[in-house]
Amino acid sequence: MLDWLIVGGGIHGTHLALYLTQRRRVPLDRLRILDPYPEPLALWEHHTANVGMTYLRSGHAHNLHYDPFSLITFARTQAGQPLAEFLEPYGRPSLALFRAHSQQLIQQYKLNSIRLMGRASGLSRIPGGWRVETETGSIESAQVALAFGLTEQPAWPTVFAGMRGAAGVQHIFDPAFDRAALQDWSQAVVVGGGITAAQTALSLALRQPGTVTLVMRHPPRLHQFDADPGWVGMTLGEFYADADYARRRAVIQRARHRGSMPPDVARELQTAVQHGLLHLVEAEVNAVNRTTTDLHAPLRLEARHSGWSLVADTLILATGLDPRRPGGAWLDAAIDQFGLPLAPDGYPIVDQRLAWAEGLHVSGPLAELEIGPVARNIIGARLAADRIGTGL
Ligand SMILES: Cc1cc2nc3c(=O)[nH]c(=O)nc-3n(C[C@H](O)[C@H](O)[C@H](O)COP(=O)(O)OP(=O)(O)OC[C@H]3O[C@@H](n4cnc5c(N)ncnc54)[C@H](O)[C@@H]3O)c2cc1C
Repeated sequence: MLDWLIVGGGIHGTHLALYLTQRRRVPLDRLRILDPYPEPLALWEHHTANVGMTYLRSGHAHNLHYDPFSLITFARTQAGQPLAEFLEPYGRPSLALFRAHSQQLIQQYKLNSIRLMGRASGLSRIPGGWRVETETGSIESAQVALAFGLTEQPAWPTVFAGMRGAAGVQHIFDPAFDRAALQDWSQAVVVGGGITAAQTALSLALRQPGTVTLVMRHPPRLHQFDADPGWVGMTLGEFYADADYARRRAVIQRARHRGSMPPDVARELQTAVQHGLLHLVEAEVNAVNRTTTDLHAPLRLEARHSGWSLVADTLILATGLDPRRPGGAWLDAAIDQFGLPLAPDGYPIVDQRLAWAEGLHVSGPLAELEIGPVARNIIGARLAADRIGTGL
């Protein structure tokens, strides 16, 4: 039996493994990371490349290490220096630097060697721990950490829900989406209102200037971060003081600036529009149909209340992630079987060490009601690891 099994090997799972093995001295051979991808951070790499972002939204102190200065130190090394580019304010690192730093940590701490490829599909209690089922067998561990989030759950607004899998229609967060493999288009439309939509539209516009329209249902909402920095610590007193989980959820919803973008991305957008690279339309699409009965015919998007419409042969949704509790049927079954406590919103009620039950921990959105509005971000992984490792 292992000491630790971490389910999910993205930003959260990889950070937790680094923290437990380096900071809490859990021996490397007593811990494993279960993840469906062959390489660590695969989905993060996939999403960030598809979006076409070149800088992170968060500052350099939010990195894969538990030491906030780790990335800035790496930026001074021979390997990091050529990639050492930062955007102010908050010294937001280039994606290339963040990536190189993460890879250096993975190599240095041998985090690749402890990965098991597979997907958790069942969870049961055994004496002294838990058994996690996968498609290729089961793994037993005294402690299990569920460290996956929403990143496999693209949100499809109702008006587009019937178009999943339809020709020319894709979601930027579909694990199978590949922006580089998109065929040339006559007219592309990106639908969405936040940083991802803006960056996706900008990258498409650079490839085929003048042929891309970004449709936003509200004017750009400017916020430097998706949750203000106070939520990393200072403002949390108010959050912890309230034991009512419905109110905690309401605080999280108010604190997270959904569909927002930092001012520099809004400026880039504006410049691209001024130079005719990109068209920007403020409309709420409420109808989408093929122009003929041919399943490959162009699509007509309409905002019927304003009379706006546009015909496009490529439609990319950048409408965010579905906020429903991640995990799916196997986790639902475990919740029922072991009576794992849930808040009214269906999310876990966990203790201060983020334990949902003895030996069963959570990180990421599953820890949101305890960590607060930044739980799903990079800094949320650090806050969660600190809690999970308390007392080890
Ligand atoms: C484009 C983009 C840019 C972002 N930029 C920033 C930023 O600048 N700063 C910031 O703080 N945050 C940012 N975020 C938010 C957040 O930090 C990232 O989404 C981050 O990847 C979340 O980490 P994660 O571990 O939850 O998810 P991931 O990194 O996606 O990893 C989750 C892993 O769990 C695996 N998994 C899922 N289910 C199972 C299962 N049943 N069994 C085994 N494995 C499973 C998945 O396949 C995946 O490999 C960004 C998000 C996106 C999408």
